[in-house]
Amino acid sequence: MQHDAKRSLVTGGAGFLGSHLCERLLAQGDEVWCLDNLSSGRQANIAHLLEHPRFHWLEQDVCTPVELPVQAIYNLACPASPVHYQADPVATTRTCVMGALNMLELARRQGATILQASTSEVYGDPLQHPQQESYWGHVNPVGLRSCYDEGKRCAESLFFDYQRQYGVAIKVVRIFNTYGPRMRADDGRVVSNFIVQALRGEPLSLYGDGRQTRSFCYVDDLLEGLLRMMASPPSCCGPLNLGNPDEFSMAELAAQVIALTGSQGGVRHAPLPADDPRQRQPDISQARAWLDWQPQVRLASGLASTVAYFRKELAL
Ligand code: NAD
Ligand code: UDP
Repeated sequence: MQHDAKRSLVTGGAGFLGSHLCERLLAQGDEVWCLDNLSSGRQANIAHLLEHPRFHWLEQDVCTPVELPVQAIYNLACPASPVHYQADPVATTRTCVMGALNMLELARRQGATILQASTSEVYGDPLQHPQQESYWGHVNPVGLRSCYDEGKRCAESLFFDYQRQYGVAIKVVRIFNTYGPRMRADDGRVVSNFIVQALRGEPLSLYGDGRQTRSFCYVDDLLEGLLRMMASPPSCCGPLNLGNPDEFSMAELAAQVIALTGSQGGVRHAPLPADDPRQRQPDISQARAWLDWQPQVRLASGLASTVAYFRKELAL
């Protein structure tokens, strides 16, 4: 892919996806500002980038006004794990909404293109399967997940209004469950939970009957999609699904992790959290057509890389 080096800002740059994105942007020649308040991210994720001459670290909140000479903004700041985004739901909504407003104002002042890391959660507990971008979703507006779901929906609304009202160049991607190295051991999402529990020989915490489904995308595939979206023509603004359409039940995921790690700990059933979506699978025909993009990494191979990462991380 041809790439003109840019001055880029990554909010949430010390998180799981953001730190990989900073790396990829530096590798393509960009000057990179990484902004993060370290609430769910870790400085360890970017420690190896701090001495890079084109890398700038800003420890601050995405809602705090900032002036930077950037041409591209990737707005990733927001806790993504239900455990983290529900720990301080008011802060989650504030981050989603005020963070988006703040970054859209920066994009407007600088004439920058801005990409929003939106989410499959805008579809809520979907009644349409697989989910197409044209589906308006099925979200509980007052439930435990609403700080995230409605926060992200409001951010999407702001993005499209800034485009219509002020002509800001926007890109909105709806990311489906993505996993890989640099997730925190205590992130709380299912892939890291299962792998960490398996490596410690503990039972895997399977919520509900385990028949609920998700479609898991490996981090490298997702990053390729984000970069292609930013490089796409201005008319390609989304919203665009990015994810892996291979769908698995959580019981199948548990079985795969157990097989890969040789865990003897088995499975422990726990109650299904409120409003947990029953099934989720992206329709990615639009990403295929617009970006010539589709995931390359199968679940077994992505899980193996993630297991290898956690073995080192936990020194097991
Ligand atoms: P993450 O929690 O690892 O990263 C989020 C980062 O944002 C963290 O480094 C955190 O410290 C930072 N942050 C949170 N609130 C902030 C604030 N107010 N100011 C500045 N920084 C703040 O999660 P992730 O999986 O890397 O997700 C990154 C983005 O992608 C999020 O916006 C998330 O909603 C979106 N997303 C991720 C997935 C996924 O499966 N990984 C799926 C859908 C959407
Ligand atoms: N889940 C589980 N055990 C865990 C964590 C999650 O069975 O330790 C289930 C959860 O109920 C959901 C699915 O795995 O059905 C994905 O959960 P995750 O928190 O990773 O993401 P999200 O629900 O936001 O898609």
